[in-house]
Amino acid sequence: MDPMEQVFIGIGSNRGDPAGICRDAVGALDRTGSVRVLRMSSLYRSKPVGVLDQDWFVNGVASCETDLEPLELLDRVLEIEKAFGRRRLVRWGPRTLDLDLLCYGRRRVDHWRLTIPHPRLHRRLFVLVPLAEIAPDWVHPGRQLTARQLIDQLMKQDHDQVVVPLAG
Ligand code: ATP
Ligand code: CA
Ligand code: CA
Repeated sequence: MDPMEQVFIGIGSNRGDPAGICRDAVGALDRTGSVRVLRMSSLYRSKPVGVLDQDWFVNGVASCETDLEPLELLDRVLEIEKAFGRRRLVRWGPRTLDLDLLCYGRRRVDHWRLTIPHPRLHRRLFVLVPLAEIAPDWVHPGRQLTARQLIDQLMKQDHDQVVVPLAG
């Protein structure tokens, strides 16, 4: 068996019952063979970026271990998105469930279907805030900064992003 790698998966939804969908998605990840969820962050509400005319998102990050190869894991999360009824209509538009592979151990992947670390992770507060919560010691494999340091950097440049804890 391949050695286990630690991966972080970003979870987002802004359709139906988004918090319920995010929690169910974590269960679905854990039930898929060869993936074990180690920790799940709290859930946060975030203001949409890119396509502004849509509901706020609910976001969280799960820390998992897996012996799947990165592309196998991508196929697995795309299947889960599909099972939750996701249809790709508008890029960055409304979605039932979005699962992004944020990073995979210290590996870099540069494939036409998959870029790891996720190329926009360091610019997204809705990813960095839950990541900092569950992995304060994690260091971005390319940038050599922790999630907290990336948040501090981002806050100096971008004042438009809003991420708040989900009430309740
Ligand atoms: P963003 O990538 O900016 O968060 P998105 O999540 O809305 O945008 P999707 O429509 O969900 O984008 O994904 C489009 C494609 O991106 C996927 O089919 C997948 O092949 C590719 N992709 C590349 N890198 C990754 C990654 N690290 N995690 C998930 N998908 C990725
Ligand atoms: Ca995404
Ligand atoms: Ca995605």
